[in-house]
Order: sequence, then C-alpha cells, then structure tokens
Amino acid sequence: MHSFIPPRRILMGAGPTEIPARVLSATARPTLGHLDPAFIGLMEEVKDLLRYTFRTKNEVTFPVSAPGSAGMEICFVNLVEAGDKVIVCRNGVFGDRMRENVVRLGAEAIMVDTDWGKAVEIDKLADALKANPGVKAVAFVHAETSTGVRSDAPEICALAEAYGALTIVDTVTSLGGSSVCVDEWGADAVYSGTQKCLACPPGLAPVTFSGRAIEVLKARKTPVQSWFLDLNLILGYWDGGDTGRSYHHTAPVNALYGLHEALVMLMEEGLVESWARHRDNHDILKAGLETMGLEFLVDAEHRLPQMNTIKVPEGIDEAAVRRELMDEHGIDIGAGLGPLAGKILRIGLMGQAVRLENIMKLLSGLEAALIRQGMDLKRGDAIRQARNVATLFAGKGEPTGERAITPCAA
Ligand SMILES: *Cc1c(COP(=O)(O)O)cnc(C)c1O
Repeated sequence: MHSFIPPRRILMGAGPTEIPARVLSATARPTLGHLDPAFIGLMEEVKDLLRYTFRTKNEVTFPVSAPGSAGMEICFVNLVEAGDKVIVCRNGVFGDRMRENVVRLGAEAIMVDTDWGKAVEIDKLADALKANPGVKAVAFVHAETSTGVRSDAPEICALAEAYGALTIVDTVTSLGGSSVCVDEWGADAVYSGTQKCLACPPGLAPVTFSGRAIEVLKARKTPVQSWFLDLNLILGYWDGGDTGRSYHHTAPVNALYGLHEALVMLMEEGLVESWARHRDNHDILKAGLETMGLEFLVDAEHRLPQMNTIKVPEGIDEAAVRRELMDEHGIDIGAGLGPLAGKILRIGLMGQAVRLENIMKLLSGLEAALIRQGMDLKRGDAIRQARNVATLFAGKGEPTGERAITPCAA
C-alpha cells in the first residue's frame, strides 16, 4: 500500500467542486480539542459567517456535522411529527427525497408534482394549500441540481406563510452561487451543503432555523426520533446558553477550519459579487454552447447559472462524450438522472471552478467530442463566441443593466 494521490480533475459536475488551496491548507492546520476555547471562538465565527451567507439574523444557524442530506433530514426530523400533513413540491430528485423523509416520520406527504425541468407551479401549490387545511409545512428545493431549475422561493414562502405553514427549503446548490435571502423570504428551516457553490470539501451541512421553527420544535408532543439530529441536544454543544457547552459529538474540527476559510473568502469577495460571478460565467458558457447549436433544458427565467442542463442532440452518445471529456481533458461533468438519464448533460459552474480557463477547456473538449461523433461544427467557433462575451464583461467593469444583480430578487 502507498499514499493515495488523486489524479488531476476539473470538477464541472453537480458537486463536489474544485477547492481553493487556501481552504485545503486551512484543513491541514493542527487539530484542537472540540471544547478548546480557541475552537469555540472559531465556531462562533462560523455561525456569524453563515448568517452573512444565508442573509439571516436567525440565532440557530450552524453547520451540521454531516453532508447536505443530513441538512435535509435535520429539518424534517425536528419539525415534523407522526400524523402531520406536509406539502412536498417535487420537480426532481431532491423533492423525491423530501417525500421519503416525510413518509418515514409517519407523516402524510401531499405531493405537488411538476414536470422535471420546470419550476414549482405556484397555482398548484395554492390549490393544495386550499384543499388541505392545517398543513404544517411546505417543503421545496430552491435549486434543483438534477434539472438545473430555480424555483420562486419568495413566492412559495409567502404563500405558505399566508396559510400558516412553515417552509423547509433546500438551498444546497444555490447557497453562495445565486440569491438566497432567508429573512427576506421569511423561510423557516433552510439547509445547504459545503461542496457546491461554497467551494469547500463535502461533509458539512449549514442550516438555519427561524424563531417560529424553534417554537414549533419546543411545542412537539413527541421526542425527536433521531438522537444524533435532535436540535435540542446539538444546541447544547453549538450554543450552550447559560449552562455552558457540553459534549454531544466530536465536531469535525479540521473540516470546520475549511468551512471557516471558505466563508471568509466568500465575505472578502462579497456575496452579491459571488452571485454575479456565477451568472457572468454562465453567460460566457452559454454563448459557447449556443454557438454549437446546443439547447438548454430550462427556460431562461428559471435557469440556474451554476447548473447548466443541456439537451443531448439527436444521434449523440452522451456517455461517450462524457468519457472523452474525462479521458482526454480530465473534465468531470454530470449525466442526467431519472427520467432525464441519457437525455441531458449537466455542466456545473460552482464555486472556485468557475473560471474562464475551465470554461474554455470544456467548450473546446465538448466541441471536439461532438465533431468526432459527426456533428457539423466549425472548430474554434464556440470558443470565439465565448471569448467575445468574456471580453465584453471584462471591459464593463462592475456589472450594470442586464448584468446587475438585484439582491434578494427571486
Ligand atoms: C447535492 C444535493 C443534496 C445532497 O447533498 P449531499 O452533500 O450529497 O448529501 C441535496 N439537495 C440538493 C439540491 C443537492 O444538489
């Protein structure tokens, strides 16, 4: 046996993404005890940095010591009890997992289904709320990584609130990459992951809970079914209150150094600037893809800049395209899932992998692969168009007009 040296890859799939050297080296610093005062200082800073990133003042804001899926589970297991009614908006893989969480808790999942590739339909949700008085929560995925769709979080949250329902929101792929505004939305339980637009190693799940969500937790009739994910117990470590902090589990100390560094970098760049960087790079990629005649699965209004889903052209073997990108260029992109398997390619532009250099390598490799499979393309055209857009942006300085981001718009 020898040390494991990973091969070089350009990660342009659904996450994990490329991790900046600053974050990787932060994780290599000496380990502290999980109750060391210096480490507790770092924990408090991580909570503040996450409040900045989620745009919230919620007291209960911290990273769960497990991947994004545990972020999903902590929201459901703490807020939902057997017999509750929960509306789950399903328009891709992750909505389906939300349903699974609800059902396993012995609660009733009322499904609001929308075709994969479309945003959650507000009218259908309104009908479901009207038809089911007493719904406890509405759960939805803000950024569906399986389809590249952004749903309208402000509208969904406002509608749920009008019916007195809590909201459980998946922002795993949106946090840091496009506008997530927990307090402006009025969202109640929001979770994310570290390995997507936060450009951090996988394995932690930032979460935030509103005061209203905590009241619902305190009013539970039954104990939280999961011992490890019981917020009442976890907060004894992450908060401590008057009685001081106590051991719950050994925090992943070095992983938290990494998250702290990644969030410091995000704050240095600026949250809105990071959203703008993802969107600008999406526009550059789009220029190249459209020059090759490729079409997006999602309409322009609901497209996620950080997850570009492209329809596979007639007669193209998408598995062979992905294999060629990996074997010849070390570029890792995503395949379609479920009903979209074989029908789309998923090109991620997340976190630090979002660079002109990577986009150009991808466009060049993709163009070569498509030409090899018989598509009638002129070598170099895609790159030329992408470069034109990049030059335009570079010359403009600060984003203005069409490129300006309105903080906290949908
Ligand atoms: C990646 C992802 C998850 C799951 O995160 P893991 O870290 O893989 O557990 C959940 N929801 C969405 C939308 C995701 O993209």
